Amino acid sequence: TEASTLEIEALAWEKQDGLLPAVVQDVDTLRVLMLGYMDRAALQASLDTGRVTFYSRSRQRLWTKGETSGNYLALVAIEADCDADTLLVQARPRGPTCHLGRDSCFARAPSAFMAELDALIAERQRRLPAGSYTTGLFEDGVHRIAQKVGEEGVETALAAVAQDDEALVGEAGDLLYHLLVLLRSRGLGLREVESLLAQRHRG
Ligand code: AMP
Ligand code: ZN
Ligand code: ZN
Ligand code: ZN
Repeated sequence: TEASTLEIEALAWEKQDGLLPAVVQDVDTLRVLMLGYMDRAALQASLDTGRVTFYSRSRQRLWTKGETSGNYLALVAIEADCDADTLLVQARPRGPTCHLGRDSCFARAPSAFMAELDALIAERQRRLPAGSYTTGLFEDGVHRIAQKVGEEGVETALAAVAQDDEALVGEAGDLLYHLLVLLRSRGLGLREVESLLAQRHRG
């Protein structure tokens, strides 16, 4: 992981009694999940085990998030901020991060919702749960999904021309959802499209 390029000794440990605040972010949805504190040992344990580990100030010991609940944070990358006194930890949560059962400790922290939807669609494709509309689309196959994208595209265009904004938002939602399913049916996702758009954007 990128985490291995982090220079542990170059961090500003002495600024705050050997503890650095560590902001944890979901690497897929970019949602801020929680804040914890790491000492050197916690950072080293996170890198060694691949499970995000903090120093618990209340318990005064190392605390691997999920050690009792099973809701681990699988480490993807760690980056220090500009003056090396705060860590950004990117992770994939294995269950709700907050002990209140929520995905994030910050109830209204925004996420990249399209990425969440894309991840859910990928999960449907892997597991094909019975009774799911998305499962039905995958079972019908790429021709049926492509036809739906065509229909929703036309409906979106007609709603715009008719100046029906409520219908336009609804049809655009249908289009985006079916487009994600179409991409996924070809083994592609939002990631591939986003990186192409970002490339064009940068010129
Ligand atoms: P866990 O690390 O998920 O096994 O939870 C063990 C204990 O750590 C919980 O009972 C809480 O007291 C505490 N805890 C768990 N998750 C959080 C969190 N996101 N923020 C603060 N404390 C937490
Ligand atoms: Zn800083
Ligand atoms: Zn919480
Ligand atoms: Zn529609």
